[in-house]
Order: sequence, then C-alpha cells, then structure tokens
Amino acid sequence: MKITGIRIHVLKSALAKPFAFSQGWVRQRSATLVEIVTDEGLVGWGEAFAQGLEPPEIAATVIDKALRPLLEGANPLDVEVLWHRMYHATRDYGRKGSVMSAISAVDIALWDLAGKHYGVPIHQLLGGAFRRRVQPYATGFYRIEGRGEAQRLCAEALQHSDNGFRLMKVKLGFGVDDDIEVIRSVAETVRGKDVTLMVDTNHAYGRAEALRLGYVLDECDLRWYEEPVAPEDVDGYCELRARLRTPIAGGENEHGLFGFRELLSRHAVDVVQPDIGSCGGLTAARHITALAQAHGIEVNPHVWGSAVAQAASLQWIAALPVANHSLFAREPVLEYDCSSHPFRHELIEDPVRLVDGWVPIPDGSGLGITVRADTVERFRVG
Ligand code: CA
Repeated sequence: MKITGIRIHVLKSALAKPFAFSQGWVRQRSATLVEIVTDEGLVGWGEAFAQGLEPPEIAATVIDKALRPLLEGANPLDVEVLWHRMYHATRDYGRKGSVMSAISAVDIALWDLAGKHYGVPIHQLLGGAFRRRVQPYATGFYRIEGRGEAQRLCAEALQHSDNGFRLMKVKLGFGVDDDIEVIRSVAETVRGKDVTLMVDTNHAYGRAEALRLGYVLDECDLRWYEEPVAPEDVDGYCELRARLRTPIAGGENEHGLFGFRELLSRHAVDVVQPDIGSCGGLTAARHITALAQAHGIEVNPHVWGSAVAQAASLQWIAALPVANHSLFAREPVLEYDCSSHPFRHELIEDPVRLVDGWVPIPDGSGLGITVRADTVERFRVG
C-alpha cells in the first residue's frame, strides 16, 4: 500500500456567543483535518489540535509544505518509521506547538488507515481494550461576562448534574478573588449530590497567586487542579505539588517524549494530560504512556477538537493501563466539552453520546467513525 495523496481541510465556524477562558475570548470554532489517501482506496483521517486562539492554518501549512514530501509514496503501515521521519525532519524548527500538532494529525490518520487495513479498531492494534466505556466529565463553566458570574455557574453545575454528569471541571483563572467565590459557590451547590469537581486555570497565574488559590481549593476535595502555572514553569509545578494536598494536573501544552520527560522525571504532576492532537498523535501517546507508567504517574488525556480528535482520544483511552493497579483502581475519565461545537455533533455519522452517563468506545475499524463530507464542505475555508 502506498500513500498517493494528502488532503488538508481547514474548518471554521463563528460562535453565536463568544466565551472566555483565562487566556482570551473565543469567537470561532476551528479545526485542521487531514485525509490521507492510498492507492488501495483506503482513506485515513486525522486532526491537529487547534485551541480557540490558535490559527488552524499554521498546522495546515506544516502538513502541506513540510510533511507532505516525507509521506507521498511511503507505506502508510510504517507508522512508527514515518513518525520518526517527520519528527527528525522538523526537529530544528519543531518539537513543540503547531509543528507537533501537524505531526499528530498525520499520525492519527496513519493509525486510522492501519486499523482499516487490518479490519480492527485502533485500540486492538495498541494492545487491546482495558475498558469498553469511559466516564465523561463535563468541561464548561466558560465566561460570557468575564467576572461576577458565580450564580450562573452554579446553575450550570446543576444542569450538568441533571444531564447525568458525576464529574465536572470548573474554569477558573479570572482573578483569585473571583475564582474563590466561584469554586466555593459551585462546591456548595453540588454538596451531597455525588459530584466530583476539578478546576482548570489555564496557567493564569504565577506561583504566589496559584498557591493562594490552591490553599482554598484544598478545602474542596477536588480530583485535580489543572495548569496552575505556565507550562514552562516546571519548578512552579513541583512547588505547588509539594505544598498543596490537591493533586496537580498538566501537560496539554507539552509535546513528544522529550517534552514529557522533564515533567515526569521530576514528578511535577500527579496527573499528566497529553492531547492526542498535539502531543504527537497515537505514536507519541504510546511513548508517553510508557514513560508515565515507569514513573507511577496517572495519564488522563486532554480532549479537545472535533469528532476526529475525540475518536482518536477514545481509542487511546481504551488502551490506557491504569497507573497503579488495584481492585478498585482509579480509571481515566473523558473530557467532554459541553459548549456548542458543530464539528463534533455534525462531522461524523455517529457522534459521541452518553449512554447511562457513560461514553461507549467505538469498535469499528480504525477510528471507528465515518466522516460526513457534506459537513466538511459546509465549514471548509481552505
Ligand atoms: Ca485545560
């Protein structure tokens, strides 16, 4: 089998109502999808991570100009070989950010192709499924004003609870005083409801403010405190981890085996959160998982992007061993963004859904999804 073509699709859709996380206002949805075509007629889909503020054209250009020449004519089943070829060829200007997201997109598409070729889901190729379903946690609590929204966020928590979520992650990072009001109000609202909370500040603070917030978070029995400081501040992560009771999580803005080596070897986090669309795809996810295992650190993927990235994340989560085995070991949970997103609900034939409060893992070949060409065309801008 040979790669005969690479199609790149940049999708955009304006949001009816912009929302904020701590780093800025999100005004549109965007995605970079890649479709790898072979001489045998099989097609594989992949996606590069594009958070709300990142132009999707960067990863698209990397795929087009830097990766395409390395891939055309190659055997797509040489997934590991091609990963190393892409990484080495881009090392001097890559290793992080959108270049790694571009490699991730191609890598996911190659795994999709391999699964379709062998007629098995990707999790089978990764070694089998530890689980057939995963418990989702509601990601939401974005701001529409910025500050002073504690009451509205409490109502949102009740809505997630009514919708069947037992776990939810509250966005903070809008000033420590506002954050304290929000988390205390939300914790009070869900008290007695069998709900576990996490928080995420998207590295809004330096160490002093992150600690001041952290001491209050320690009262709330959270599952984790995500991205408390900037991803470069590994010393800050270590300090917070030493001084707070709440488990520290991070890693969505880290990339590749080498990037995660420092985070893991210094035990800077309790929960490491690579994103499948930017850590280097399923190949890098496999490398990082093994390294995390060796350090006894829990992997819980960060999940963003369209239905393609969601599907890739589900395949990885199926094949993800727990960090510390026991009869009632803590299982990974699925980040389930509850904000409106047409590239999730309308992009594939059978979008992610909740069944009795859980998300089933697709068991079709490859990613186990069928991408809808009409949706791609509708939102395609380049
Ligand atoms: Ca996050």
